[in-house]
Amino acid sequence: VLDEYESRTRGSLAAFRKAREYLPGGDTRTMTSYDPHPVYFDEGRGVRLRDVDGNWYTDFLANYGALVHGHNHPALLEAVHQRVELGTAPGGPTLSQVEHARRLCERVPSLDTVRYCNSGTEATMWALRAARAFTGRDLVVKISGGYHGTHDWSQVDAFVANGRLFPQHDPELAPATVSHGVPEQVLDSVLSVPYNDLDTARRVLSEWAERVAAVIVEPMLGVGGGIPADPEFLRGLREVTERTGTLLVFDECATFRVGPWQVWHDVRPDMTTFSKIIGGGLPIGVFGGRADVMEIFDPSGPDPVFHASAFGANSLSLAAGIAALDNFGPADIERLNRMGERFRSGLDRVAADAGVAGDAVGCGSISYFHFGSGEIHDAADVAARRAYRADLRRLLHLELLNRGFVTGRHGIMCLSVPTEPSDVDKFTDAFGGALRALRPHIA
Ligand code: PMP
Repeated sequence: VLDEYESRTRGSLAAFRKAREYLPGGDTRTMTSYDPHPVYFDEGRGVRLRDVDGNWYTDFLANYGALVHGHNHPALLEAVHQRVELGTAPGGPTLSQVEHARRLCERVPSLDTVRYCNSGTEATMWALRAARAFTGRDLVVKISGGYHGTHDWSQVDAFVANGRLFPQHDPELAPATVSHGVPEQVLDSVLSVPYNDLDTARRVLSEWAERVAAVIVEPMLGVGGGIPADPEFLRGLREVTERTGTLLVFDECATFRVGPWQVWHDVRPDMTTFSKIIGGGLPIGVFGGRADVMEIFDPSGPDPVFHASAFGANSLSLAAGIAALDNFGPADIERLNRMGERFRSGLDRVAADAGVAGDAVGCGSISYFHFGSGEIHDAADVAARRAYRADLRRLLHLELLNRGFVTGRHGIMCLSVPTEPSDVDKFTDAFGGALRALRPHIA
């Protein structure tokens, strides 16, 4: 696997060496760094990507789901070209902000009003700050393995690596994990509970009822391993938070591409965060929800929360974002989700044929593959799967690159609008071939 990878990607190796002179680890994103060196991409067209060595790949990552339209979608390109001629960020409000906001609020019934920022990280940071400001409480409840970006409060129990994850503030369990550089005090202001475990969530929320400002939850645990929420878990969270006066925040940064979760599960959160696909390939973040909560940002109010951002709601991201929303409707969502079902059953089938234990999980157009076997309900289950033969994941990722397919190194795979059924078939065959090639490592 490695020899072939290295001989195909000599240009990437040269780029990596150069990059390391200026960037620690040769990159900006931990997620996209891997051994022996990452592929450096040069060009994207539809669902294809070309690297600096001239190899073409079919893109089953779509920048971790963010590029649901693929690369260089004509309508998005046109919108950006038109806008860039007129300026990118005038330093004052624009009508495109209103147009984008109207589209979002019309699509998501729980959104009365919204505000803009530049990333999913910022969106969740603002939603949590809004919840603290509105409720006057200081604690946040999150999910073990729930990923909400990289600000301090999101970094508690955020990763499911090869280790274990535990809820904290529970004397029977070990302390939570947190990234180096995040103050200890932050650990004391975040409580984490296992996904899909309503009893624990109920217990923690009731015990700390007076102090918890918000519960933040993904409708599908994304980075944490592709586990869809049990609808009863989400509805149960709604019920208990209504009782305790805690704001329920849905983080839909990753899952908005899968469809209207809030409608499907009949849950109306107080706040929701978005990013990724709603910016049409350019940076964006949105947080919004109940008008009375969002009111705290109104500068004409009695004690407004200060919200600033030089490039928040910039015209370029909004132009791309409006085109993105207009070119990704219910029919596109349904088509991709159906393809996703077929995709996962294809992966399960070729894994079984190859005699390799593993499961394709996920929802709609977002899938993950986990080696090993056993039930998957929460991040601890995923952690156990990832600890099982951790080397296989790395080799599978490289083997798929060798065969011309881009996936996430932690096992994420996303379909995009230009993905054709024939791409799915070719990927599935390559996946089976890769698993068979890895069998000597498994035996
Ligand atoms: N929330 C979720 C659910 C995400 O998946 C991500 C990104 N993977 C984020 C927040 C953070 O978004 P960003 O990388 O734009 O800061």
